[in-house]
Amino acid sequence: MMNQFLSLFLKEKCPLCDRPADEVVCRDCDRQLKKCQFPNPKKYWQNSLPLYVWGRYDGALKRAIATMKFNDRPQLGTWFGQQLGATWRRTFPQQQKLMVVPIPLHPEKQQQRGFNQAELISRQFAQITGFRHDKTSFVRTKSTKPLFELSLGERQQEIASAFALSADGRKKLGDRPILLIDDIYTSGTTAQEAQATLQKYGLKVHGIAAIATPKQSQP
Ligand SMILES: [Zn+2]
Repeated sequence: MMNQFLSLFLKEKCPLCDRPADEVVCRDCDRQLKKCQFPNPKKYWQNSLPLYVWGRYDGALKRAIATMKFNDRPQLGTWFGQQLGATWRRTFPQQQKLMVVPIPLHPEKQQQRGFNQAELISRQFAQITGFRHDKTSFVRTKSTKPLFELSLGERQQEIASAFALSADGRKKLGDRPILLIDDIYTSGTTAQEAQATLQKYGLKVHGIAAIATPKQSQP
């Protein structure tokens, strides 16, 4: 009786609805989020920058990503990383060894927010997949405006030269192909610029894995 009471009392609260939760999110929110999950996460795994994506950027998933970033709920990043990692392992059971790298935030923005959501996701993803993780070598040197407000040409101009490698970055990233990680994949402008920067240093980009995309159409 006492134990039951204590466990109820000590249970963590769900970061989305504040009800007690056994895992990171409660069972109800888990179900809502999984309604947004794609049946085929490698639907866009082709072309020069293959995209692996967990779910549709809509409904509960869209709200949860906003809650994580703007209401200070970093534990959701862990949950997303777990989901993405588990799904990845099912899709690619025999996978070559990759280096997992989050799309970096500009240091000012990261300080404002307190964390980089892509890094929370990638850290957990790497733990589940057993891949190496590097969060310091690939950096953002330019603070950019939100890209969704801009036209394609403006987006490309805004993001140009936004990324670089740290002084010892090339050495630390080694020779494994790089899997980039981000929370949302929208137009792909950011991901393509990240890929171009890494390629300039002679690195191979395997693809990008993201939690959500508003993309609708079949390729
Ligand atoms: Zn909940």
